[in-house]
Amino acid sequence: PPFPILLVGPVQKGFGRGGKQLGCPTANLPDESITPISTVAKTGVYYGYAQIIPPKDRDTQLRPEDIKVLPMVMSLGWNPFYKNKQLTAEIHILHDFQSDFYGLELRAVVLGYIRPELDYTSREALIDDINTDKRVALNSLDRSGYQAFARDAHFDLQ
Ligand code: ADP
Ligand code: MG
Repeated sequence: PPFPILLVGPVQKGFGRGGKQLGCPTANLPDESITPISTVAKTGVYYGYAQIIPPKDRDTQLRPEDIKVLPMVMSLGWNPFYKNKQLTAEIHILHDFQSDFYGLELRAVVLGYIRPELDYTSREALIDDINTDKRVALNSLDRSGYQAFARDAHFDLQ
């Protein structure tokens, strides 16, 4: 796929399929927002950068550190809720937010592929893999060529 792939849209409520319980909340994007990746990329786990954009017309609980461009891992997969006919993109931002940000604009730059989607037999195996994904993402983004994408014009930079 032609990286970088740019995504943008309001964070939607998902089906609460265990994101937070696994210590890995994932911000879901609406269908229209994921066309740039769903038409070109295979399912699996990706890495890149993401940013939450605070609304101009009202206050939020977001702190200055929450609205920076941050590393993320993204899962692109078929949604069982729609009988696996609908792709969903879920983004976990590698950052400790103190509050939810449903409804706010999320911008993301997808930069690379980590692994295919796997079927897990245990919760522990899944959590292990998620932790590996996070390390892979941080290591990949650590390379100088990739850090430039954190300053992409797609993001809102001060
Ligand atoms: P849902 O099924 O509604 O997506 P999750 O358990 O996956 O529920 O939680 C996702 C929500 O958690 C996001 O929409 C966002 O508001 C919030 N959130 C808090 N911290 C993060 C984070 N580090 N990455 C992504 N979302 C986060
Ligand atoms: Mg989610």
